[in-house]
Amino acid sequence: MFIRRIAVIGTGYVGLTTGACLASLGHRVVCADVDVEKVERLTRGEVDILEPGLPELVAEGIASGRLSFVVGAATAVGAHDGGAEVVFLCVPTPMGVGGLADLKAVESVVDECRSLFAEGCVIVNKSTVPVGTTVLTSELLGRPDISVVSNPEFLREGSAVKDFLNPDRIVVGCDDQDAAERVAALYSRLGAPTVLTDAASAEMVKYAANCFLAMKLSYVNAVAELCERLGANISDVTEGMGYDRRIGQSFLSPGPGWGGSCLPKDTHAMLQVADAADFEFRLLRATIDTNDRQRQRMVDKIRLAVTGKRNGSLSHVRIGVLGLTFKAGTDDLRDSPALAVAALLKQAGADLVGYDPAMGVGSSAAVGMDVVDDPYLAAKDVEALVVLTEWPEFRTLDWAKVAGLVRQPVVVDTRNLLDPDVLSRAGLKWTGLGGHR
Ligand code: NAD
Repeated sequence: MFIRRIAVIGTGYVGLTTGACLASLGHRVVCADVDVEKVERLTRGEVDILEPGLPELVAEGIASGRLSFVVGAATAVGAHDGGAEVVFLCVPTPMGVGGLADLKAVESVVDECRSLFAEGCVIVNKSTVPVGTTVLTSELLGRPDISVVSNPEFLREGSAVKDFLNPDRIVVGCDDQDAAERVAALYSRLGAPTVLTDAASAEMVKYAANCFLAMKLSYVNAVAELCERLGANISDVTEGMGYDRRIGQSFLSPGPGWGGSCLPKDTHAMLQVADAADFEFRLLRATIDTNDRQRQRMVDKIRLAVTGKRNGSLSHVRIGVLGLTFKAGTDDLRDSPALAVAALLKQAGADLVGYDPAMGVGSSAAVGMDVVDDPYLAAKDVEALVVLTEWPEFRTLDWAKVAGLVRQPVVVDTRNLLDPDVLSRAGLKWTGLGGHR
């Protein structure tokens, strides 16, 4: 294996994981960020995101001398003797105007480093970008000696290191096959199936995969709603579906709607890409609409459970919220469905108190609610306790203690996480999704 001189631009979930993992594979890596304080913390080995194994890998990388952190893309690109041979772009591509992907961060790195990139280096785009961006980046760069390669990332927050080092597949796309092979070789030790393709197809793989996952979740949420109407039990239904190897068990749990930093922006960006290509992507539109509706459906369910009426008032009703992050195992609140449901409850006049294992007291990101550092404080004097994120520790709460704290024994479980029998024995009235019993 060749040891490469690598620059990684952006040290978020993707960039920091990429940098630390590539250093652990033997490469020499300099990571850059625009956030000066973050770079100072990382240089001291302090990792401020919740990712199992990442602090250890960063510490090892720093100690080995193979991993370092600098401020600014330009500094990273020029930091190695002879310049970086491979430059990874791991910068944000958030939802911009009208649902389009905002590519400002990618463009600004290209502008900042145009004349600084080493002769013949490869620029690898790991950020999620619409089809056509790799070619556009190459045109914006205007350096025929440099190839731009698409190498989308599929890691999941909460298991980023494990996913990066044990990928289901590596996808590398470039019209210059030599550059694509150089990038694929960086991962050769991982032994993963590798798809070498053109840039547009690589970019499309990422969007098509994320939109498919969103569609699977919207589908199961719709089936759960139908189960409620028809007296079927969604848990048995999805178990029965999931044994079919063509379907699989994963992404079949109903919930308050999908969210996080990727699925909402990627589904909207794909829809914009389709619109621009004059293609009416009805299936994707329905996937998004179903998800938007799901949040209100959770509020309706909570309203009925608390007041006993479909149109009962939630004004000044005190509700405890268990779970604020977009899924369990992460501290990421970006586009969290839990926060979206909480915002709708707030709009309906409810007074909220929230608890999340990954959040400190008074977390500023969870606006409009008191955030406490103990789940039992979130249960005190509430008219309903609502589970919005599937943290496993909620399952083993002392439910008899909870029953002694609440004003009304109502628990709404939007993740079908809890055992209804345990709650019933504690004297609590449990409501879940999809006729789950
Ligand atoms: P993030 O917000 O966690 O991190 C981005 C980092 O880039 C931040 O630290 C920011 O300060 C830095 N940055 C912004 N502009 C910069 C610039 N000009 N120069 C240097 N640093 C800059 O983002 P993320 O979650 O790591 O996502 C990055 C990209 O990867 C996005 O396109 C995302 O869609 C994609 N992606 C994310 C995930 C995920 O689970 N988070 C998974 C796969 C792909």
